[in-house]
Amino acid sequence: MKIGIVGAAGRMGRMLIGAVLAAEGAELAGGVEKSSHQDQGRDLGELAGFEPCGVKLSSDTRALFEAADVIIDFTAPAATALHAALAADTGARLVVGTTGLDVAQQQTIAHAAQKTALVQAANYSVGVNVLLGLVEQMARILPESYDIEILEMHHHHKVDAPSGTALALGHAAAAGRGVKLDDVADKVRDGITGARRLGDIGFATLRGGDVVGDHTVMFAGAGERVEISHKASSREIFASGAVRAALWVGGQKPGLYSMKDVLGL
Ligand code: NAD
Repeated sequence: MKIGIVGAAGRMGRMLIGAVLAAEGAELAGGVEKSSHQDQGRDLGELAGFEPCGVKLSSDTRALFEAADVIIDFTAPAATALHAALAADTGARLVVGTTGLDVAQQQTIAHAAQKTALVQAANYSVGVNVLLGLVEQMARILPESYDIEILEMHHHHKVDAPSGTALALGHAAAAGRGVKLDDVADKVRDGITGARRLGDIGFATLRGGDVVGDHTVMFAGAGERVEISHKASSREIFASGAVRAALWVGGQKPGLYSMKDVLGL
């Protein structure tokens, strides 16, 4: 499977280069970055801290989409919307890791899924995807009197909040309760907020240092509190999960798939 990487010089992009080079059945078709990027023309293997691999960083996005079977995209929301349209146009499959997409950008993804196969996940780690299932189950079993709070912490470079994973956990909890997250989410608290509303799902966001990604879901009842956590200590888990998704989606019909589909959960 020929795999291309957009945003190849980013934190995740470099990890993805290593994961594609290491994966059986995968071939690195190329990597692109903005034309202004300082690493343009550098060997991708070297860029990721490995031996040279003979493929250089470029800015020709369309050529990469035409050459690759699957593109992996961990960039930024506006870029990802453009890449989804390009995938629909060229027939390349797309693995979307970018988080923080707005409604219009998400619609571009859904539209592209009529023409090509895409996988989209807020988190490509196996552990978080298992956690999503457990949270849905716990929210179904525990009564509404158990207040659900979702706490996340990430490195100080992260630009969106709450994290895509925290929102995915919120959606899983809401699904377990048979409600829509948009109707019960409480994302910002400041000043005289009044008492907590029964049934709300609260979010708290911490930012600092080099934290790769910590998430805790709390079910706080009267007399007890159940907490379930995931802590990522390396971006490798996201990169290897995304490459697994790329190898899987290469053989799929047009449609929008999740990591649950990839893992067969
Ligand atoms: P980053 O800023 O280090 O990397 C993003 C890269 O994309 C940058 O190098 C930037 O120059 C490049 N880029 C932006 N627009 C581009 C364009 N039009 N063409 C080519 N390259 C372009 O960020 P990061 O930490 O690697 O995270 C990237 C995204 O992935 C974020 O949205 C983050 O939340 C998300 N993320 C998702 C997961 C997951 O498992 N789904 C895990 C980690 C990060």
